[in-house]
Amino acid sequence: MDEEITKTPTLNKELATLVKKANQTYLENFDGKVWFGRCIFLSWYCETGTCKFCFRSTQKHKIKNPSDARRSLASVLAEAVMIRGFGWRLEFLTGGYGIFPLKEIAEIAKMCKQVLGEKIWLNLGTMKPKELEMFKSSTGGIVASIETTNKKLHAKVCPDKKMQPYVKLLKDSGEMGFKKSMTIIIGLGESRKDLTELKEFITKNPLDRITIYTLRPVAGTDYTNGPSTEDLIWWIAQVRIAFPKLEIIVGSAKYRIKEISLILKAGANAFTKLPATNLFNSDKAIEIENEVKKAGRELVSKFRMKNVRTIKWNAILENVKNKELRTQVKETLERYLKKFEKKQK
Ligand code: SF4
Repeated sequence: MDEEITKTPTLNKELATLVKKANQTYLENFDGKVWFGRCIFLSWYCETGTCKFCFRSTQKHKIKNPSDARRSLASVLAEAVMIRGFGWRLEFLTGGYGIFPLKEIAEIAKMCKQVLGEKIWLNLGTMKPKELEMFKSSTGGIVASIETTNKKLHAKVCPDKKMQPYVKLLKDSGEMGFKKSMTIIIGLGESRKDLTELKEFITKNPLDRITIYTLRPVAGTDYTNGPSTEDLIWWIAQVRIAFPKLEIIVGSAKYRIKEISLILKAGANAFTKLPATNLFNSDKAIEIENEVKKAGRELVSKFRMKNVRTIKWNAILENVKNKELRTQVKETLERYLKKFEKKQK
């Protein structure tokens, strides 16, 4: 399994030159503001559950009753409240497909939009246009989890999740006026030659955003190591240079925080996949801030606060219209805030 990266790695000359070009491309197209993207999961269960790298593939057999894996609405909305309060952004609302009736997810999406004050991003697997229609009022963008555009590798790592329906999802979403995003994972076994295929894919299926995940090895799966820093940075920089205006979000990990400055210099707009509620007000939070500074960027999301009560939480909570539910969301939020206060230095 991967070990913690304790020092920001030094790049070789060739990669450093590529990163310099990618950083320049970023600076010509964006304003230097970096945010943290937080996913909201509706459940821990996935009907497919056979993708070779995925945590949920290790859980599926343990979950006897999928509906038990549902998260409560109050905890889902408490996360949305924190996302708004701390200046994080919703990466996407996900999970729950096959557990929650779609109508119910559409209602939850509307509530998330109300709390966040803006349309959300949604990643629910494949959906037909009629189903997408249900999310028109709440959702600005649809995410297709492509994982890899290398077809052979895709068939191997996602044996029961075909790529074509996701390509159709992107096409339908675009035609219906949604923004479009896809996810890929670095570390699945791709080679640098696959960049050509990725570039062709994005050219054929124009995107507003891409999330590039760093493979995080999960015990019980085939993977025991994530990608090297060099490989990860190479892919980010190549995507930035090829698609100067594309929003790039990179999925990192708690043990890879020291890589964040390089991720940003390689052209990422934002980072995701860190356990933010766990890291809040911790020493790792200081490390995150330092990494962003090192890249010469400005972090607009909070990971540290002396007094979390200065945020106008009640004003955000007012967006939960149902009073009883609002009380439950407030109670959940309170538990988080107390935890953050305890860690205050
Ligand atoms: S990658 Fe997605 S579809 Fe595959 S097992 Fe994980 S959650 Fe399910």
